[in-house]
Amino acid sequence: MALDSKQSFASQSLIELRDVHKSYKLGETLVPALRGLSLSLDRGEFVAVIGASGSGKSTLLNIIGGIDAADAGEVTINGQSWKGLSDNRRSEWRNQFFGFVFQSFNLMPMLNVHENVELPLMIQKHVSKDERRRRVESLLADVGLSAFAKQRPDKLSGGQRQRVAIARALVTEPLVVIADEPTANLDSTTTLQVVKLMQDLNAKKNITFIFSTHDEKLMAQVKRILRIKDGTLIQESQKSQFE
Ligand code: ADP
Ligand code: MG
Repeated sequence: MALDSKQSFASQSLIELRDVHKSYKLGETLVPALRGLSLSLDRGEFVAVIGASGSGKSTLLNIIGGIDAADAGEVTINGQSWKGLSDNRRSEWRNQFFGFVFQSFNLMPMLNVHENVELPLMIQKHVSKDERRRRVESLLADVGLSAFAKQRPDKLSGGQRQRVAIARALVTEPLVVIADEPTANLDSTTTLQVVKLMQDLNAKKNITFIFSTHDEKLMAQVKRILRIKDGTLIQESQKSQFE
């Protein structure tokens, strides 16, 4: 299968959604979350999904990352549909090809910073102890937290915690990092720092980043913006890199 090698990429887009629909049952009623959404993302893109609360951002990200399944339509990762995968393959794909960052950081309070970043590698048996240490130390340097390796998360600021979470998302060397409102709990200065950090890592490592936000102020920072409203894409803008 093409995705078994992270290097071998065909000319097709990395991620394709075609006419994706998703509803949630709430008692007797169906709440539509995505209503016929199509888009494609290439490798190495840095994309913001912007929309009001309830517009379908989390649903979209969860469907791209295989956390949730579409009711109708097609979601393919390098040409392979999520739909065709067994439960085991789905979780293998999630672990191997995606890194996730959450609004509330989701760090383990009893583990120090180094251990938190290392955690996703503990289930990857082919990664040796030395390689784990090398990757964690290198990522902590990338996110500017080498000096905090031995600290517990409760000693860190919100921005520092989110930088730990970003390092953790990258430690498995994913193709795509999905960050659902990663800056929602941060002040505006820290928000810009975290977005800048994600952009730097995107440029340095050619990892695709897709993050959601309802913060209009971030619009100016991001090259490609997908604006969604009521579960559909209402506007897509792509700035020239020379702007
Ligand atoms: P956003 O992330 O932009 O705030 P969501 O994707 O969370 O939007 O939600 C889109 C719509 O789907 C909203 O109307 C929301 O109430 C509904 N929804 C999302 N998750 C569930 C769920 N688990 N059960 C019922 N309704 C849900
Ligand atoms: Mg959400």
